[in-house]
Amino acid sequence: MAPDGNTLTDVTADSSVEIVPLQEKPQPARILRQYELVDRVKAYAPSASEEQLNAAYVYAMMKHGTQQRASGDPYYSHPVAVAGILTELHLDEDSIVAGLLHDTVEDTDATLEEIGSLFGQDVCDLVEGVTKLGELEYSSEQSKQAENFQKFILASVRDLRVLLVKLADRLHNMRTIHFIKKEEKRKRISRETLEIYAPLARRVGIYKFAAEFEDIAFRELNPDAYETLQVRIKELNARSLEDVSRVDVELRDMLERAGIEGRVVGRQKQPYSIWRKMNRKDISFRDVADIYAFRMILKNPDDCYRMLGVVHQKWACLQERFRDYISMPKPNGYRSIHTTVRAAGNRRIELQIRTEEMNRTAETGVAAHWSYKGKNYGFNAEGALEVGLDPARSLTAFAEMIGDGADAQEFYEHAKLEMYLDHVFAFTPKGRLIVLPSGAMPLDFAYAVHTRVGDTCQGCRINGETRPLRTGLRNGDVVEIIRGEKPAVVAGWDALTQTGRAKSAIRRLIRSRESAGYHSLGESALEAALHRLNFTTEELDLDEVAHRLHLKSGDALLEELGRQAIDVKQVIAEAFPARAQEIMRSIEAMRLDESTANRLIDIRDMPAGGGLHLCHDCSPVLGDRIVGLQKKGEPITVHCIDCNRLADDGAEQARWFDLSWSGQPDGGIMALGRICVTANNRAGVMAQLCTAIAESGGNIITVKSGERSIDFTDLMFDIEVADLKHLTLILATLRALSAVDKVERIRG
Ligand code: MN
Repeated sequence: MAPDGNTLTDVTADSSVEIVPLQEKPQPARILRQYELVDRVKAYAPSASEEQLNAAYVYAMMKHGTQQRASGDPYYSHPVAVAGILTELHLDEDSIVAGLLHDTVEDTDATLEEIGSLFGQDVCDLVEGVTKLGELEYSSEQSKQAENFQKFILASVRDLRVLLVKLADRLHNMRTIHFIKKEEKRKRISRETLEIYAPLARRVGIYKFAAEFEDIAFRELNPDAYETLQVRIKELNARSLEDVSRVDVELRDMLERAGIEGRVVGRQKQPYSIWRKMNRKDISFRDVADIYAFRMILKNPDDCYRMLGVVHQKWACLQERFRDYISMPKPNGYRSIHTTVRAAGNRRIELQIRTEEMNRTAETGVAAHWSYKGKNYGFNAEGALEVGLDPARSLTAFAEMIGDGADAQEFYEHAKLEMYLDHVFAFTPKGRLIVLPSGAMPLDFAYAVHTRVGDTCQGCRINGETRPLRTGLRNGDVVEIIRGEKPAVVAGWDALTQTGRAKSAIRRLIRSRESAGYHSLGESALEAALHRLNFTTEELDLDEVAHRLHLKSGDALLEELGRQAIDVKQVIAEAFPARAQEIMRSIEAMRLDESTANRLIDIRDMPAGGGLHLCHDCSPVLGDRIVGLQKKGEPITVHCIDCNRLADDGAEQARWFDLSWSGQPDGGIMALGRICVTANNRAGVMAQLCTAIAESGGNIITVKSGERSIDFTDLMFDIEVADLKHLTLILATLRALSAVDKVERIRG
């Protein structure tokens, strides 16, 4: 997942905010009456024109006449409900009026001119912007659909209210979607909601809408999963009731003791957010759901930080889950402190600490910034900017795409993908867009470009800088794959991929390489045996022998021989049936001297990764004295001669090989050197060690800290080195440091 704070999708990345309060969803209410709507608006915007609101209400009612909704309700109930939703966001009068009129141009004989003359240019522009997108879901023509979307985004960038009215429109349509009879239509609308509207709502910070969009769409698209999760959530709630109220009491108690005013709210995870986490992180229901979630709403930011201190003093904080969005708000203006703590009884508690104002912004995002400025009620841009919310910026990425001259169709697809939660978008140096699942790494990228690019990938540059292959890609990264002439992929690179495509390609490559390794192993075993019996390879028709042994070909035979699936004696006896007895006798004689059967194999001659594996425990490097061990049906494992593993079970029965290194390090595949450094426990030591290793040309793969006393600490490094000489050099360099007490190469 992308780290916070610098990518477009990160406003959606932290899913702990998907949670809505522990209350039932508002049910679609009866039709809001004219005076009720007016009262609602007047309650937060007393200067709103009653006349204008009444006129719009009546106009919508008259224009829609006897039209009906799928529910059987009169059609005008829909625009009235949309206007009602907009009052929940406390939007201005023009937005409410536009909500009432939003379907008139499309579905009745009303015209934009008429609306302009009756309700003013602003309302007219709003209705036009919303109407454009109204055609989105119904247009059969894809290019038309795309064009409408582009116009809608441009209209929203010009005036954000267009987007807000449209979101309210979609919300009411989703709340009533179950009335639509055709399943296919329900699914199509739900998919569009999940792909476009929920992400758009998040983009402008209206998490309240986003959560409801997702919940309903998920219910429509995946009714079985939805049902199951609902049931399990209820079970879990029943079981944890007591625990939850205990935590609730403890939190209130903490507030009181600290003398901080505020309230504590319990939160419940929604089926969709649990589902998404289960899928994305591949974890179980319990792991996601079995966390008690609370929110503390306090008076001011100072109190938030004080409360955080109180909580962390009582309960241990899970460091990797701590986020301070108060000092670093999300681009959509979201602010809050998130922390997860471990309380007594190993209970995990997820806590959001925020002020009342932050809470409102978290639910209604950009809409929280409609207020009075003098006599006018409207969007308070300065107020929004003050808390780090720039609505223009939240849509800028789209506007830029349009500016780049993307055609409408392309834009629609890109925007959809761009917003889609579980993808990451990266580019080739020539600008080709590569879409990958989030969490994808450079190898996934390479294989997505072309299988050959993946196979020969040796490294990568991201945005011009050389980066390790285990780097997670982020939106907008330009990825350049560094390729060698021969396939460089080795077993284990599998872990550097996310996509099925890359994984299967790597597996295929490894398999074919392994066959090649076994093939050459079999070949040398056969040659050695023939040589000892004074035969030559020319005297023997391998394909013929293979046929008699029911194998496909001579090559397959050599491979089987390498795997020890068949015996070299069997092959020779089969090859020279006339002299079988004589051969068997010679072989019997040879058995007396089995140890001479060990052959010297030059491990640098073997294809990388094929038939040979380096022991993970001793991780031999070029220059170490080594020995090979082959258990039946397994590849040869290369060990240092002092490796503990050589005393393992089964090692005695295995076939042993004298192995030797040959040639110079070729700068290709590096070996792993593992060292332990005992160093002084003072600040900056780690940086000093890393610098020394890097300056000696070692590439640090992992660092672990081991035992730690008051003054000294053990640090374990896995370092990529060229050979033993290189490793020895690094050891010497480290020993020379004043902070270092002891340096050892370690095994296992
Ligand atoms: Mn509508």
